[in-house]
Amino acid sequence: MDYDVLILGGGIIGCAAAYELSKYSLNIALIEKDYDIADDVALINSAIVYDGIESRDTLVAKLERMGNEMFDDLSNKFNVPFKRTGGLIIAGNENEEKALIEMYERALKRGVLDISLIDSKEIYEMEPNFNGKAVKAIHSKNLGVLCPYDLAIAYAEIAFDNGVNFKLNEEVIDIVKISRGFRVETNKNKFTCKMVINTTPGKSYSIDNSDKTIQSNVFYQKYFMLDSTFKEIYSSILFTINEQGERVYTVPSVQGNTIAALNTKDNLKYNEAVNKVSNLVNGIVDDNITNYYQALSYKNDVLIDDSSVDKGYIKISAKHYGEVTMTPAIAKIVCETIVSNIKCTLKKDFNDKRREFYRFRDLSNEERNQLIQLDKRYGKVVCLCQLITEGEIIEAIRRPLGARTVEGIKRRTGATLGSCQGSYCLNKIVSILARETNKKITDIVKDSKNSRIILNRIKEFDGV
Ligand SMILES: Cc1cc2nc3c(=O)[nH]c(=O)nc-3n(C[C@H](O)[C@H](O)[C@H](O)COP(=O)(O)OP(=O)(O)OC[C@H]3O[C@@H](n4cnc5c(N)ncnc54)[C@H](O)[C@@H]3O)c2cc1C
Repeated sequence: MDYDVLILGGGIIGCAAAYELSKYSLNIALIEKDYDIADDVALINSAIVYDGIESRDTLVAKLERMGNEMFDDLSNKFNVPFKRTGGLIIAGNENEEKALIEMYERALKRGVLDISLIDSKEIYEMEPNFNGKAVKAIHSKNLGVLCPYDLAIAYAEIAFDNGVNFKLNEEVIDIVKISRGFRVETNKNKFTCKMVINTTPGKSYSIDNSDKTIQSNVFYQKYFMLDSTFKEIYSSILFTINEQGERVYTVPSVQGNTIAALNTKDNLKYNEAVNKVSNLVNGIVDDNITNYYQALSYKNDVLIDDSSVDKGYIKISAKHYGEVTMTPAIAKIVCETIVSNIKCTLKKDFNDKRREFYRFRDLSNEERNQLIQLDKRYGKVVCLCQLITEGEIIEAIRRPLGARTVEGIKRRTGATLGSCQGSYCLNKIVSILARETNKKITDIVKDSKNSRIILNRIKEFDGV
């Protein structure tokens, strides 16, 4: 057999499963069709770490709670920014209050700790800048925010350092059952393995059981990044609930900015969406919105299908708005299932540390000076808005599973995510990527094969 375990898909779930399994004496590979891991994780600075109280589904609630409890440890160990901000789920009228109390009682029955029901006076005391309608709220100390792709990259880097073989830019075409294992066919290779963890969403291979397809509940998600007028306006995450099931909320990002967000069944126009969020963040006008981002979001059932685990196959289908929160729990459960079905032992030399790196903007001036003395490239600021240096960009390229695309640099360092949206630094990043990877600048892509940034050289400038 080529491998003991093949993990298909290098999203956050695949990377987390690779990390958990890399603790064991197993020969593992992960196959990802894109040039980079975690390329599909939503590109927003902060994701909410939920605590299960908002979910009607018992399994989702349980996985969110399990995941939530693991984040303090993970973020310390991996140096991934995480803030346990707490949050308020606010009811603005009597009907909403009824639904809120139901949610609260359901959470208590499930044994959720650190939540309380508070009245309007306490709400306004807790968040003095809030001037929307509020009759009652659930206050949860459990909610938090983190950088989801940082977490995915941390999982993958440690898995890589502990021997997991990452095969990027390789697409799985089929999975075929053979005696004592599987043959995984890709566009480049055929691999045999004893067990498969399939995390590729929506794919159906020869091995899959067609009865277990997931119902898709699609929502329209819109994010508004707000300017410094709204910086730290709220200390916690604020949600409103309403009878239509829309979710309007604000998130204090890990960098202290405010993100207003909306999740609706209908695809609202920009102005309608701004109106909705202005109920939570009073006074927003167009000029306050530094960045607008929309995506589809899902609230599907979470299915960890291990019904074929005796044959060696586990499929994880979990398109869900709380999936980052559930990831540590799902990875642990899947790893335990694999380990109890395959002969292996814990590695004595497992290294549970991410290689160190610097975030220039988070350092004091004294630390910055020391760093520049060590490496002058930390003294060259490439992205002015986010204060990202050439040293950090080179480090992002040279790290294990280093960035090979502009998107990869963006996700690892935060460059181009400021108010100028890369108009100052994009070309510089392309040049650094080309120089460090020994490629022509015309070969550097945004993220996928056909997304070149600079299409041609202009002949007259060849000698410049
Ligand atoms: C807008 C939005 C906001 C969100 N906000 C939050 C939040 O606040 N809190 C939270 O907890 N969660 C949040 N989530 C959920 C979370 O970000 C995603 O659900 C999660 O990142 C999905 O991870 P995954 O590994 O399951 O799937 P994916 O990221 O889709 O990974 C699957 C991987 O498989 C690869 N692949 C596909 N087909 C093949 C093939 N044939 N061969 C090889 N590779 C293949 C893909 O390229 C991809 O990299 C949000 C999601 C969205 C969309």
